[in-house]
Amino acid sequence: MTATIAYDLPVTDLIEQLNATGHVYHNAYQKTSVTLHHNAARFSHQGLLENWKTRPASAHFDVDAAGAVAQYVKVNEYAWAVGNMTGNQRSISIEMANATLGPGWTVADVTWKGAARLAGWLFAKAIGERPSKNNLFYHHHWSATVCAGPYMEGIYDKVLAAVQEAYDQFKDAPPAILPRTRPRPR
Ligand SMILES: [Zn+2]
Repeated sequence: MTATIAYDLPVTDLIEQLNATGHVYHNAYQKTSVTLHHNAARFSHQGLLENWKTRPASAHFDVDAAGAVAQYVKVNEYAWAVGNMTGNQRSISIEMANATLGPGWTVADVTWKGAARLAGWLFAKAIGERPSKNNLFYHHHWSATVCAGPYMEGIYDKVLAAVQEAYDQFKDAPPAILPRTRPRPR
């Protein structure tokens, strides 16, 4: 029994280790949006966790340089992510590793496409709304920061289109675990 989402790709479970930092509130909220971030670094999943041990921050998910997903905070809970209480209550935050550092802060295609696919799944399975400019945000939507960086800023429309494409696939997909059928008594 894992606490991670029932995604159709592997999700590394770092929820207990993030919980040990104390940088999470275990209150449940209905989520209404997804917020994308960049690491402002080239962290591994574990490296990002180590960083969050030294500063008061967290996010629900991270997508690394290879496009792999890790989860740190349960979807409905409050991550210390966007610098805004409503945003932390109502949004699901996804971090992305950078491919290059500043000033360009690029993010590899495999990373942002992995994040877009995960976001599409979350809109279909956890939020229940079609992604649009009104609910797919970058961090700076919520507070004074340039996160998710200039590179992601320039490709927002492409990212949104990828999230919508994933949403359209996932919203009609059968649940990951089908109920077991029992033979009818005769
Ligand atoms: Zn951010």
